[in-house]
Amino acid sequence: MNRHLLLDQPLIIDRGSERRELVDTTHAHAVVVRDGAVLAIDGDVVELPPSERPAHGLEIYLGRDGEHELVAVVPDGPLDIGGPGARMTPLRELLGMFAARGADGARDRELATTAVAISAWHASHPRCALCGSATEPRMGGWVRRCPTDQRDHYPRTDPAVIVAITDGEDRMLMAHASHWSANRFSHLAGYVEPGESLEQAAHREVAEESGLVLHDLTYAGSQPWPFPASVMVGFRARVDDPAFVLDDDEISEAMWVSRAELDARVADGTLVLAPPGSIARRLLEEWYGSTLP
Ligand SMILES: [Zn+2]
Repeated sequence: MNRHLLLDQPLIIDRGSERRELVDTTHAHAVVVRDGAVLAIDGDVVELPPSERPAHGLEIYLGRDGEHELVAVVPDGPLDIGGPGARMTPLRELLGMFAARGADGARDRELATTAVAISAWHASHPRCALCGSATEPRMGGWVRRCPTDQRDHYPRTDPAVIVAITDGEDRMLMAHASHWSANRFSHLAGYVEPGESLEQAAHREVAEESGLVLHDLTYAGSQPWPFPASVMVGFRARVDDPAFVLDDDEISEAMWVSRAELDARVADGTLVLAPPGSIARRLLEEWYGSTLP
């Protein structure tokens, strides 16, 4: 197995889904999350003991880690907690810091990603989609129930595909999406639509955005990506004909790069890579053969 790719390991935290309804969280330790950011000190997620937990806010049961129950708390009030150096750190920033810690960052990555994903779902789904009533958290925060029609609403995860594409000379396609910051280049990607497989979504998205015809599509790995509610499913693929026709609305520029060309463009700043800790970065590094600076 390639060492750069994949979160191919069991969950570290026992989510204890069978305990969600009845678990006593009085003595749980708390991860603090709000607006896509998590309380951390220099990239280490803060786990507040019961005596320091925010008194008011939405609580979501994260599971058990050894002796401790763990919850995520979305505090109602101000955030003057966690001690010196503690700050609400955006998950995108944390993912890079976790990646730099290697295997040591895996537990914090799992906690922070889950806390951001589930809290973002609560924030964006306050009402019943069927009747409009305000829904209420149940089952440790993993369900919202409508008090009017008693329907349960579950957290959603929207799959998206990302494809690392190489040509006959083993060059990598690097594309710039219209809405990205200057010089940022990465792989083509897009959401899976109802009624198609992940593979079909990969073929369709690449065809729509570039006109390229893929073959040898293989699964590479996946990554939860709660911006706002996705799991990114990574593929590798090849093309025989490297000539592309861009959909200018979505992709404003693309190029094929060799490893040497990638080095040169990164060095002179004309190509800014996807951040460390992203599946896009790992797909690129798998092809490149080592980590990139
Ligand atoms: Zn309802």
